[in-house]
Amino acid sequence: MATQLKHKPECSEAEWKARQDLAAAYRIFDHLGWCESIYNHITLRVPDEDAFLINPFGLLWSEVTASNLVKVDSEGNKLDGSPHWVNLAGFTQHSVFHKELPWAHAIVHTHTPDTMAVCSSEEGLTPTNFYSCFFEGAIGYHDFEGITVRGEEGERLLRNLGNHRILMLRNHGPVVMGETLPEMFLKYYMLQRACEIQVKTASLGNPIRVPPEVIEVHQQDRDKMLTAAFGVLDFEAWKRKIDKIDPSWRE
Ligand SMILES: [Zn+2]
Repeated sequence: MATQLKHKPECSEAEWKARQDLAAAYRIFDHLGWCESIYNHITLRVPDEDAFLINPFGLLWSEVTASNLVKVDSEGNKLDGSPHWVNLAGFTQHSVFHKELPWAHAIVHTHTPDTMAVCSSEEGLTPTNFYSCFFEGAIGYHDFEGITVRGEEGERLLRNLGNHRILMLRNHGPVVMGETLPEMFLKYYMLQRACEIQVKTASLGNPIRVPPEVIEVHQQDRDKMLTAAFGVLDFEAWKRKIDKIDPSWRE
């Protein structure tokens, strides 16, 4: 790729890489139609710092670049003198997880119609398709309490998440977390697909529930995939795709 990198002088190599990776994630999510106007967030911890990168409030996800991402502390205070605003209401739930879960380096929350539809159904995600079987028994659910995440809701969010990496906010939308951005990306990709298929299957009626013994076999194979490289090939492939569309995310 011949694109000239515009490296912020005050930013470490590790931070610049995190900025580029996160900017790529915003462009990929936008390309796949998983954005919500100027709202919702993908956040990423800056390596070895108590700092996080988040989208500038007011820009579309298609406008996010490595340089315009905003660096904030866990309270959402700006650390990089960015001229952009941060949507603090939206960052609150991300900050709870980033602060309390040392492994949760990458987090996304979306409002896509199919994931919201599944979050709004009593059963939640059901083991009725290839993708949803991946997640059976691995998702927490949190009842809707309104738009604002207050401090005391944070404890309930964590309790309802339990040992999982996905929390379905009922009547609202999913939160997907990963140790790495590629892990979060591929899990979100599969969850999005699982929800799309569940919604389509519901329109046909009589979905077939996969029996527990088959889910067990499916998940044994799943567990073999869950290495540190999980999602890396996928994420790199989608980076190549968005590079062909508009490589300005790198700057
Ligand atoms: Zn939301």
